[in-house]
Amino acid sequence: MKRSNVRELIEAGEKNKFYKRAEWQKELRPMILKRDHYECQRCLHRWDSDKYPNTRPKKLTRAKTVHHILPMEQYPEYAKETWNLVSLCNRCHNEVEGRDWFKFRVFTKKEKPQINEEKW
Ligand SMILES: [Zn+2]
Repeated sequence: MKRSNVRELIEAGEKNKFYKRAEWQKELRPMILKRDHYECQRCLHRWDSDKYPNTRPKKLTRAKTVHHILPMEQYPEYAKETWNLVSLCNRCHNEVEGRDWFKFRVFTKKEKPQINEEKW
């Protein structure tokens, strides 16, 4: 996949497709998780620590998600750069990336969030 293709996916509103690609699922994502020892880097305060200086992790938190530090929407050219990727646990990922998502859930309970179920 070339960079322009990432941009094209995003412009088409099909960002989810990027995460379904073998390149992400089988290469990038496992590589980053392995690099970060499968530990949430935010819980470990190796990332984003300036916002949460006084909280210490009680225990190591297993990372389940690989997060784009610079969002793909704004920086599609960095979508596959390892320095732009960080392993996070689900909770941290929701906090970091899902604030709007949470608001959405709180304020529009009746509406289901749009999930791209399209198979390809
Ligand atoms: Zn975490």
